[in-house]
Amino acid sequence: MTPSSLPVCVTCGFPLDSEDSVTLIGRSLAHVDCQRPRALTAEERLLLAAYGWNHTVADCETCQRSYRLPELVATPVDGLTHFCPFCRGDMIDEVRAHLYRCTTLPDKVRRKANAARDTTRRLVKRFRELADAGDVLRRETEVALRSLRETMRGLPSTRTMPGRTEGSTDDNQQSI
Ligand SMILES: [Zn+2]
Ligand SMILES: [Zn+2]
Repeated sequence: MTPSSLPVCVTCGFPLDSEDSVTLIGRSLAHVDCQRPRALTAEERLLLAAYGWNHTVADCETCQRSYRLPELVATPVDGLTHFCPFCRGDMIDEVRAHLYRCTTLPDKVRRKANAARDTTRRLVKRFRELADAGDVLRRETEVALRSLRETMRGLPSTRTMPGRTEGSTDDNQQSI
């Protein structure tokens, strides 16, 4: 894809990538977090908190190590990004990739999460043409996201993500 075919974020004005976390603001697209375009969405954080806690969610190729979620150091300022504690490599893509294939998620939840991600990706890729062609995909994205959120209401009680360092037991610090 050439840069000129990419939609831009209405908030920061930078081009959006289909791998970025994006959200719809009215008819426009925006980063979920302009400072960290690939930050996890609220839904992804909730799902990880509910299901991704007790098993390996990321492998660091550099260090040849596997990590559970609480073992990935998240710094206080940048609390939602996940780093390898040894090489400081950013594991966010690994964590996200794991989430969408994680077998501890109920099938229905995983399907809906994938559907929401797929339609959002397609929307970013085709946003320019859609601006003229109509709102079908935009609506599809909204529906997929709403459907995911509705399904997630029935989730078991969630824990918060590790906001500081490993071993923190304070579960009430961070609302998501
Ligand atoms: Zn932005
Ligand atoms: Zn590493």
